[in-house]
Amino acid sequence: MERVSEGNRLRKKYERKFASAWLSDFAEKSVQTFSESYMNFLTHSKTEREAVENAEGEAKKCGFLPLTGNPGEKLNPGDRVYCVNRGKNILLAVIGREPPEHGFNMIGAHVDSPRIDLKPNPLYQDSEMVLLKTHYYGGIKKYQWTTIPLALHGVIFRENGEKICLRLGERDGEPCFCITDLLPHLAREQMEKKMKDAVSAEELNLLFGSKPYPEEDLEDSIKINIFDLLANAYGITEKDFARAELEIVPAFHAREVGIDRSMIGAYGQDDKICAYTSLQAILELRDPQRTALCLLVDKEEIGSEGNTGMQSAFLDNTIARLCALTTDHYTEFTFRDALSGSKFLSADVTDVVDPTYEGVDDKRNSAFLGNGIVVTKYTGSHGKGGANDANAEFVSEITNLFDRNHVVWQTGEMGKVDAGGGGTIANYLARANMDVLDAGPGILSMHSPFEVSSKIDLYSSYLAYRSFYTL
Ligand code: MN
Ligand code: MN
Repeated sequence: MERVSEGNRLRKKYERKFASAWLSDFAEKSVQTFSESYMNFLTHSKTEREAVENAEGEAKKCGFLPLTGNPGEKLNPGDRVYCVNRGKNILLAVIGREPPEHGFNMIGAHVDSPRIDLKPNPLYQDSEMVLLKTHYYGGIKKYQWTTIPLALHGVIFRENGEKICLRLGERDGEPCFCITDLLPHLAREQMEKKMKDAVSAEELNLLFGSKPYPEEDLEDSIKINIFDLLANAYGITEKDFARAELEIVPAFHAREVGIDRSMIGAYGQDDKICAYTSLQAILELRDPQRTALCLLVDKEEIGSEGNTGMQSAFLDNTIARLCALTTDHYTEFTFRDALSGSKFLSADVTDVVDPTYEGVDDKRNSAFLGNGIVVTKYTGSHGKGGANDANAEFVSEITNLFDRNHVVWQTGEMGKVDAGGGGTIANYLARANMDVLDAGPGILSMHSPFEVSSKIDLYSSYLAYRSFYTL
């Protein structure tokens, strides 16, 4: 007969135990199917513009209609609408049965990822090569971006205002680009440098070409040859780089990682893993009690500034419009009450303990790979500086919701106190006096060209966001 000691009985009763989400009840097939669609989304959504375009495409397929702004437009419970802001920011809504002044259930994620942008005057010839000058975007470890295949994505405008969309270096048979590094034989001085200085920002020059225009004694002949090539292929001139947004991203596609295929490796999982999971959750939502919103924003990696970032009035304006379209007696208080009555999940990734670098984490409070979605009460750095620090009432409401819906969750904190830190869009929402909590999966090698997530954390996050919309 099995004997359980009194101490062990007490442990079982009272101790909080975080465990692998792989050991919970779930359909292996669903996890696999979901992971495959996610990897496909990642491969085709490396930039904020592509992510928004693909989100819009999926929304249309699921019956979402664009907000028209036409007089006489009205919205009823169950209606599915969306609004795109400048091609880089999208909001999707499913209208609920409750009036707007009761507030909405919103999930927000960001679709921009750390990368390298071209400068407005990038092209130059030196030492029989043409290179492009760059300015990095977001917090990257610069040395990670050398000697890997890179692709060029974005838009460039011709003199006549015509927009050209570029996506170069992704397909088989298409050329890619790269940033070179010094051979070890001659790197004695470089190797003595601090890691952060080993490759400087001005050394992140993209190798673009090396063949001269076939004419004797022509100055900058490789550059001229490239002008000819660009003019023929895209109708663009050197001046047009000044009216472009060209982003350098890793050229490889999303892959399964591990002999057990339990993980996903890809560029841009911060934060497309949350963008994709919250998007799927709202796409399948029907007739919610409270109006549900999914907001995908740009510019998080550079402080949420700009007209497509979280600090733009886009969300406020669209909420005001949604309120006005769903009630016959709209006043400013309908809008204000909708904001302060709202519940918001700030869906962003966090770190998980990496055994190779575990010194930066408090292992009793950090998140672990595969243990489910991470609920982060506060982010920030140096004594919670800049943190949203969610109120316990809301943390309680959300974690109880997750428990009721068998969503595997864990708590997390971004590293040891004073080891560093980070922020999300949470603060900007909290200013509108709504309830806000950070919740998203943890990933390895964050902000690198090849970030790693766990398939079961991906799926747990999807289940978590799905349950949130029913709150
Ligand atoms: Mn993020
Ligand atoms: Mn980030």
